[in-house]
Amino acid sequence: MPLLSSTPSTFRTGPFGDGTHLYRPAPDVVLQQKYPFVLPPLGYETNALMPALNAATVEAHYRSVHASHVQALNTALTAHPTLHEYSLGQLLMGLRRWPEAARGPIREHGSAHANHALYWKVLAPGAATATAPNGRLGSMITRDFETVDACKAALREAALGVEGNGWAWLVKTATNRLAVRTLPNDDSPLLDGELPVLGIDVWEHAYRRMYQTQRAAYVDAVLARINWDVVGAQVE
Ligand code: MN
Repeated sequence: MPLLSSTPSTFRTGPFGDGTHLYRPAPDVVLQQKYPFVLPPLGYETNALMPALNAATVEAHYRSVHASHVQALNTALTAHPTLHEYSLGQLLMGLRRWPEAARGPIREHGSAHANHALYWKVLAPGAATATAPNGRLGSMITRDFETVDACKAALREAALGVEGNGWAWLVKTATNRLAVRTLPNDDSPLLDGELPVLGIDVWEHAYRRMYQTQRAAYVDAVLARINWDVVGAQVE
């Protein structure tokens, strides 16, 4: 049995073919990228996230870590031309469908590419206002966490609880609820069929240059710097 359908039509009802998947690619253009993948522009100067993140931290994280995952993903997928018609979102959500040799690199580098692109996007640069959730996201937070502060507290607790390398996530589940998750390494929520809404990278490379071992100070600074309008676009 071929691993790949000859047409991408199997994705019309979601990559698992069960029709329950709520993924819509519109909010996050990186998820629509196909091979060869490219590092998206940061959209601001590397010092624009001060005082939350300094230029050296952003520089190393974006230009070294993120960029190297994009390169490694392309290198790995060069040998799998049958996968070049699929978007990053499809590759992550359909992981079990792909040739076994491609799954590891897609899981590691594809996830990291998607995660970091979202991370850079939701941080408010320069004079941009760290807004408050409103619209559909605001309603969902009220429904699922009662208050914005409770949502932030759950994310904070999750971020502080990650052991080793990983991320804390606000996700939209397959039943359209908001939930907080922690995932190891760079695993994308899309691997579990959940839409990433907001991710906090708690690998040491995300904060050690500036905060040493003070992960809580980093998490608080990031949570104070979120552009919730951008986050809200993930669930529109
Ligand atoms: Mn990272």
